[in-house]
Order: sequence, then C-alpha cells, then structure tokens
Amino acid sequence: MLELINVSTFYGNIQALHEINLKVDEGEIITLIGANGAGKSTTLMSISGIAPPRTGEIFFKGKPIHELSPNKIVALAICQVPEGRHIFPDLTVAENLDMGAFLRSDKKQIEEDLEYIYTLFPILQERRHQPGGNLSGGEQQMLALSRALMARPQLLLLDEPSMGLAPLVTKQIFDIINKINKEQNTTIFLVEQNANLALKIADRGYVMETGRITLHDKASALLTNEDVQKAYLGI
Ligand code: ATP
Repeated sequence: MLELINVSTFYGNIQALHEINLKVDEGEIITLIGANGAGKSTTLMSISGIAPPRTGEIFFKGKPIHELSPNKIVALAICQVPEGRHIFPDLTVAENLDMGAFLRSDKKQIEEDLEYIYTLFPILQERRHQPGGNLSGGEQQMLALSRALMARPQLLLLDEPSMGLAPLVTKQIFDIINKINKEQNTTIFLVEQNANLALKIADRGYVMETGRITLHDKASALLTNEDVQKAYLGI
C-alpha cells in the first residue's frame, strides 16, 4: 500500500532522515519506534507532504506521492493525527468532527460514521456541544483520532497517541486503534515512544535511530529481541 524508497528529508542543512526504506501492506498495523529525535515524526511528515523528502520516492498504491502537496495527499485518504493533538479548541466537539469530513459530500455515510465514532467514544457524544478546548488530554486525543476517522482514511498516520496520557486512557485508545484496524480495515502507521504497547498491537515494527532504520521484523519478534528489550522496553 505504501512504500518509501531511499527517503532523505532535511530541515535546512540538518538531515533528519537518511535513505529510509519502509513498506506498509494494506490492513496492517505497523509501528515505528525509537528515541526522542530519532526522526519518527519526520517520517510521518514526509509521507503526508508536510516535510517532503529532498531525495527518494514514496509510493501509495503504486503511485508516486512525494511531490504532491499535503492537501492532495489527504485527498488520497492518507490522514495524519499529529503529535500534540491539534484540535480546534474554540469549536465544539461536533464541529471538530465536521471539520474532519470537509472533503466529503456523502451525507448519509457521514452520519453513519459519526454514529460509529460515538459508539467508540461515548464521552464525545456526551460532550458534543462543548468546546474542544474544555476536554481532558485523553478526550482531546480521542477527538483528534475521531476527526481523522471522519475523513474515512485508508491509511491513518498516528504520531504518539499515548503522549502525556494516563496508562488507563492510553490503553483505551490503543484498544480503539486496534478495533478501527480490524472493523474498518484501516491501515495504521503508528509512531510511538511507548514501544511495549505499540508492539503489542502491531503486526510489524521498524526501529529508528538517528534518522536511520536499524531493524525491522514482526512485532512479536521485536518484543523478544534482546537489543530492543534493553533499549526500548526497559527489560
Ligand atoms: P520525538 O519523539 O521527540 O518527537 P522524533 O523521533 O519524532 O522525536 P523528529 O521530531 O522527527 O524525531 O526529529 C528528527 C530530527 O530532526 C531531530 O534531530 C530534530 O531536532 C530535527 N528537527 C525536527 N523538526 C525540526 C525543525 N522544524 N527544524 C529543524 N530541525 C528539526
């Protein structure tokens, strides 16, 4: 579904990604784990066109996307939920969700999707008339994820959904990510510092160090890999 070939991305003179190669198959959950500053967010932003690669190629369903603008990439049903959530704090929960569907015109399906989201996160239905900014951190993460779902993504790029959340809320969100993958057949590319949780729901994982992919394998194999355990799982 998605393939990155020798992708190098720069911020001015700083090279953040060094010839990254990576593949995502349709229906998979893949995770990219690594320390602070390894280049995980830059990888997602290279895919979504926010930090386009200087060299290398990115293909989505066989078509090159590395020269497309972010809005053209979103229109292909690739949606990113950025780190730090970025909901619209002054809009209500319902208005935030409407914003996610702004490229769509299939009204009936939009209503059904909204119903589905409210069954995933009943708290969002209860709070639908409140400003997004009044929600707790966990609820804002639920809203950011739900807003992305309203775009009917085929590929969902999630940047650190566990960031700053209590363990119980994190678990709830990860359960829902798994559910979305299984029930909606949404392919998920999950960037996480919480390697333990991410590898538990992922099919495959990539490990990134200072802008390079250093290891990739089935998630179950990474969970038992001694180097990964020492560096990222605190074992
Ligand atoms: P974190 O988990 O802390 O978000 P990360 O693995 O997502 O880390 P990136 O945010 O992709 O890492 O950063 C990769 C490298 O690029 C780092 O060295 C970082 O300092 C640098 N970098 C990121 N954004 C910018 C920017 N806007 N300008 C300059 N350098 C940047």
